[in-house]
Amino acid sequence: MFDPVAIVPHNVRVSDSGPSVALNGVTKSYPGGTVAVDGVTVEVAGGTFVALVGSSGSGKSTLLKTINRLIEPSAGSIAIDGQAIDAEDRFRLRRRIGYVFQNIGLFPHLTVAENVAIGLRLEGEKNPRARVAELLGLVDLPADFATRMPDALSGGQRQRVGVARALATEPRLLLMDEPFGALDPVTRDQLGGAIRALHDRLGLTTIMVTHDMAEALLLADRVLVMDKGRIVADAVPRALLTGEGGAAAQALVAVPREQMKRLGALEAGA
Ligand code: ADP
Ligand code: MG
Repeated sequence: MFDPVAIVPHNVRVSDSGPSVALNGVTKSYPGGTVAVDGVTVEVAGGTFVALVGSSGSGKSTLLKTINRLIEPSAGSIAIDGQAIDAEDRFRLRRRIGYVFQNIGLFPHLTVAENVAIGLRLEGEKNPRARVAELLGLVDLPADFATRMPDALSGGQRQRVGVARALATEPRLLLMDEPFGALDPVTRDQLGGAIRALHDRLGLTTIMVTHDMAEALLLADRVLVMDKGRIVADAVPRALLTGEGGAAAQALVAVPREQMKRLGALEAGA
């Protein structure tokens, strides 16, 4: 039914993997004393799908935004494929990094096509129509959605447009901030699977923020758990499911596990 990867954008190299991302002692403090991110050092290998999990306020969004320089860290450094991200112009950097906003972030007064093509226009592309159609196909939306306004779309469709926009300039690194947060569970599950398939097909490096541990376990290769600005666990899903990763991670894993048990008991008629 659902083949989000039937069309691959032009020029995309599907064989090699996305870039590595290395954070070294990244800290972000806000005036007033909040330390949103506190000395994070982590290395993400090229091609990995990483989930960044943690409760609200743990610093996930702040950390994600330091990678595309929407936020400048107070201390520490970040390199993509070994190159310091502040060595180049931040707008150029952002064209190489897809970013899906926490609250979708489509411009309400622009059509779907105009929203998708924003990055392309910034690159001087005058007639991105064919490319927009291709991108809509990539996220499994009909081409005639191009002329619709965002408020004429469902939440899931809007989020697909957000993903199409993020992929427009053919980035190899995709950052997503709670991309499925506002969606119903069925749409959420479908879109999660679609994104994972896109990641694999396009050979991306993906860092996805979520507060949902079940989603992280099901989609990611590696799960980073954040608490009070720090990475407190770093493990593959299977290790987390077998009890590794420490107390904070296990507290999050306990939620879906407990739900599964209760559902199992219900099914068994207990
Ligand atoms: P998360 O995405 O995990 O919910 P955030 O990264 O948004 O967390 O926020 C981490 C902490 O930083 C929170 O305590 C939040 O209140 C604080 N914070 C975020 N943005 C700002 C800001 N612009 N000014 C001051 N404090 C902020
Ligand atoms: Mg957030």
